[in-house]
Amino acid sequence: MTKGYILTKSKYIRGLQCEKAMYLDVYKPKLAYYPPEILAKFRQGRVFEKTFKETFPTGIDISAQLRYRMEDYPILTADLLKKPGEVAIFEAGFLFNEVLVLADVVHKHTDGTVDIYEVKNSNTVSDTFRNDVGIQYYVIQHALPSIQPGDLFCNGLTLKHFYLLYNDGNDGFVKEDLLAHAQAECQSIEHRVNHFKQVLTEDEPELDMSEHCDTPYECPYKRYCKRLKK
Ligand code: SF4
Repeated sequence: MTKGYILTKSKYIRGLQCEKAMYLDVYKPKLAYYPPEILAKFRQGRVFEKTFKETFPTGIDISAQLRYRMEDYPILTADLLKKPGEVAIFEAGFLFNEVLVLADVVHKHTDGTVDIYEVKNSNTVSDTFRNDVGIQYYVIQHALPSIQPGDLFCNGLTLKHFYLLYNDGNDGFVKEDLLAHAQAECQSIEHRVNHFKQVLTEDEPELDMSEHCDTPYECPYKRYCKRLKK
């Protein structure tokens, strides 16, 4: 494994459902199969996210510049956040404890406070979304204070709000601040991260298929695991 990270947000979320699926995501991702209806849902989600990002007309999309150079996302993000004044960044990268997360929208205000938005095309706030915000918070709250904007006499940037931005049912936006929830979960997230990193140093986990293969999502490795059972 290269690049300074072994886990990402999506692999962490996968690990919460199944450690074997997380392992496959890291070492054998080509085995994943996503049916057409799931791929269509991903596309709808990207459209909803893009519509929200358009509410920040001067936003800078890091993914458009760096594409798949994932190791460079945190570097460019920090450079942009160090610049004076307000800035909105899309797909902002942060790295801590070998976990890389990309935040959908990071909005730095002139006073050095930062709001973050995780965008989901859903009408409800699920536990998975809370976990999604939780792992981002775990990484970002460690990474932010080391970023010192040149125009501020302060101890680095301060995270003020961590919003989950979701669909009101009519393609409008509803936001809920999950910062307090993420703060309360931080210690258990660190334990899980360290456990998952350990799992990834070992052989592929042997796990039987069960209800967890469909909860909260249908696992993309079901075909592979079914073949193993034969
Ligand atoms: S199919 Fe089930 S056991 Fe196999 S990787 Fe997916 S969740 Fe884990």
